[in-house]
Amino acid sequence: MTTKGKITVIGLGAMGVTLAKLLLQAGYTVTVWNRSADKAKELVEAGVVLAESAAAAIAASPVTVICVYDYKATVAILHTPEVEAVLEGRTLLQLTTISPAEARSSLEWATVNGAGYVNGAIQAAPSQMGRPDTPILVSGNKQVLQSVYSLLEVFGGGISNLGENIAAAPTVDLATLSYIYGSSIGFFHGARVMEAEGLPVNEFGDIVAGITPTFGEFLKYEGNKIHTNDYTIGESPLRISVEATARIEQAAIEAGINTEFPALAASLLRRADAAGYGSEEIAAVMKVLRAS
Ligand code: NAP
Repeated sequence: MTTKGKITVIGLGAMGVTLAKLLLQAGYTVTVWNRSADKAKELVEAGVVLAESAAAAIAASPVTVICVYDYKATVAILHTPEVEAVLEGRTLLQLTTISPAEARSSLEWATVNGAGYVNGAIQAAPSQMGRPDTPILVSGNKQVLQSVYSLLEVFGGGISNLGENIAAAPTVDLATLSYIYGSSIGFFHGARVMEAEGLPVNEFGDIVAGITPTFGEFLKYEGNKIHTNDYTIGESPLRISVEATARIEQAAIEAGINTEFPALAASLLRRADAAGYGSEEIAAVMKVLRAS
């Protein structure tokens, strides 16, 4: 196998192991370090080098990928005199899920220590990594980003470069996770609705997957409405959703099932209606969110 270059991966949880494997398969010389060394066993058998310390791992390659549990773990591993002593001239690609403020602090710390730093946010599960469409958000300095781009492509072809603002990737990550958790909880409520009516829930996922592309189009439209702050009705009047969410809440009460999710949705839409936005596009609910 041809060698493409040296890369270090710090963190061998479910995601870090996957990243290291993908890099090895792509022909990189991979060095790893993990707090619990036993997690490297399988990788070492496959040809990866296990470094004795985080500092030694970083010193082994021009670029280090970090993928640990959270920012606290990142700081525990990296903010040590030993690591700071080897950072000059190296590049760090942060793939741990961190907050926008933590990304800004990380960039500041890396810059003080002479290292390039870019922030990514993985939008897929380990088994979905390395595909042509695996979504990865990334932001940071243009030149630094350019230097890690081919490496990112090993992790997934669906790269969204969000520009030079280091906090952009973690911010969009928060936004996409808000969407995912909101829709997941809606999905679970929907499953409960079906279950309560004695309908088979195993078909529900297929039905939702089928409507998702159409729904994605709808959300793109609503996003543009918010961006332009123009809530003239184009697709879906807010009032329809006031009634729909009230109906879902009422049906949950009648079925004797949990009402928390429809109560939240119905309450937001009722407030938008009361504020006079009923005859506007549904995206006008944004005006209620902005006011609180
Ligand atoms: P994981 O399996 O829970 O692994 C956590 C990793 O962090 C392990 O390497 C662990 O080391 C290390 N760690 C935790 N606390 C530490 C500390 N105080 N000091 C040093 N090391 C510490 O997590 P994962 O699934 O690989 O996820 C890693 C990152 O990827 C997370 O930020 C996650 O949000 C992000 N991500 C994951 C997924 C996913 O589906 N898994 C998807 C998208 C993004 P030990 O082995 O020693 O415990």
